[in-house]
Amino acid sequence: MYYSTIHSHTNYCDGNNTAEEMVLTAIAKGMKTIGISTHGPLPFEAKWSVGKDKVDTYIDEIKALKEKYSDKIEVLLGMELDYFIDTEFEHIDKSLFEKLDYFIGSIHYLGRFDDGKRWAVDGPYDYVLEGIKASYGGDIKKAVGDYYHHLSKMVEKYKPTLVGHMDLVKKNNKNNALFNENASWYKEAVCGFLDTVKNTDTVIEINTGGMARGYVTEQYPSIWILEEIRLRKIPVTVNSDAHSAENITCMFDEMYTLCKELNLENLVYLTNNGWKKIDL
Ligand SMILES: [Zn+2]
Ligand SMILES: [Zn+2]
Repeated sequence: MYYSTIHSHTNYCDGNNTAEEMVLTAIAKGMKTIGISTHGPLPFEAKWSVGKDKVDTYIDEIKALKEKYSDKIEVLLGMELDYFIDTEFEHIDKSLFEKLDYFIGSIHYLGRFDDGKRWAVDGPYDYVLEGIKASYGGDIKKAVGDYYHHLSKMVEKYKPTLVGHMDLVKKNNKNNALFNENASWYKEAVCGFLDTVKNTDTVIEINTGGMARGYVTEQYPSIWILEEIRLRKIPVTVNSDAHSAENITCMFDEMYTLCKELNLENLVYLTNNGWKKIDL
């Protein structure tokens, strides 16, 4: 049985389907809740995020879907919001936080090129290396450490409902091409972040979106990180980060099994009345 996904994209941003199509697919899958989390407004033009002028239409549409399908599924109004290490959430109209049922805090952009343009950690390999050269003098360790440092700051200050794809920096790290995921400095950076999350109500997601789109061969976060999460009793939810309806439960059976094998204590899903526990 599939419980929920609250990380899903629509044609308001870079998703392929309408919000209603995502909701109907979730109903067909027997889910209890579906959260729509369109990429929120950015401080610059980007076709993969909702424009500031479309935010109200988006909110109205998700609210209408909430009503329309209330006897079949709980629809939650969310957004995936970009946190910038230099300007945090300054680009977000603070009243937006009040209007949403929840928000996902994600870091995609870690720095800027010499021309001032921001670069994203999930871009192509060579582009990311260029970015690290521009912002960190090529010091990958410093860049990756900074990613987790700022994730911690975001969680402490803004308390997102959940953190998006927490180890997104591994997207370009196939065969440890960028850094050694077993190195002690990396473990310390990740665990420092988890120690921060542990003291908040923020939830960590298992995100299967990278697998669905063929970018990575395993979920975010890595298995050893899930073990560290278990030790800290941080609640975990399973999300698909689906950009199309067909991927809405991509690898969910495998993830539920993995969580069982890892003896995770808390698998949770978000409802209109807060987080509910799932018996695995
Ligand atoms: Zn994301
Ligand atoms: Zn996403």
